[in-house]
Amino acid sequence: MSSRNTVAGNWKMNTSLEEAKALLANLGDAEWNPDTTVIVAPPAPYLAVLAERASDRIGIAAQNCHAQDSGAYTGEWSASMLASAGVKYCILGHSERRALFGETDALIAEKVNACLAAGIVPIYCCGEVKEEREAGTQNQVVGGQVKAALGHLSAEDMAKVIIAYEPVWAIGTGLTASDEQAQEMHAHIRGLVAEMHSMDLAVLIPILYGGSVKPGNAAGLFAQPDVDGGLVGGASLKSADFEAIIQAHG
Ligand code: PEP
Repeated sequence: MSSRNTVAGNWKMNTSLEEAKALLANLGDAEWNPDTTVIVAPPAPYLAVLAERASDRIGIAAQNCHAQDSGAYTGEWSASMLASAGVKYCILGHSERRALFGETDALIAEKVNACLAAGIVPIYCCGEVKEEREAGTQNQVVGGQVKAALGHLSAEDMAKVIIAYEPVWAIGTGLTASDEQAQEMHAHIRGLVAEMHSMDLAVLIPILYGGSVKPGNAAGLFAQPDVDGGLVGGASLKSADFEAIIQAHG
């Protein structure tokens, strides 16, 4: 089970190895509330190197994995490979993977299973696009995603998952969900988990907000009762900004 106070950085396809090592080293020097779990997701080629260098305070995440354990899948890597390389978490279902690589919730559900079988914590991303928000269908859309990708899990497995609500219209756009919009959706997601299992379980699940989190908006978002932390893209590539966001968690 993961801490409900979690801040994760998604570096996407950015940084050289040297830059990635420097970001990790800077983070190692930073101070934050020991109750906050800090995770970074570097590009795949650097995972093993960074996992060896990361202190106990920093978890290393992959940005993706394949659903199968091994085999003729050139260019891919499995959850068990991640585990053997010291990786603890894996982002799954990021909107860029859905939009650019055609990932569906059915496939993501298989990847969730693969991660859980390998002892990797899935960070399951969900979120509506702009048109869905404008049409007022965001709760149905996100609810459908959560049920499709996580609805099959036992309570024991569900308790190991981190959920990241990332409204697609807010990712990399500079637009952010308001504190109220984020809280409303996070409460909706927690309610769904409670429906699927129980509120006792739902209150244990970290639900992170992602979408242009910056030092200036992090505190307001994290102060919401159902916003347990953040999944941070662009700002996680700037050491001072990421540190400020982590510290905004209190
Ligand atoms: C993301 O890609 O997960 C993300 C939230 O990006 P950004 O913070 O840059 O919007």
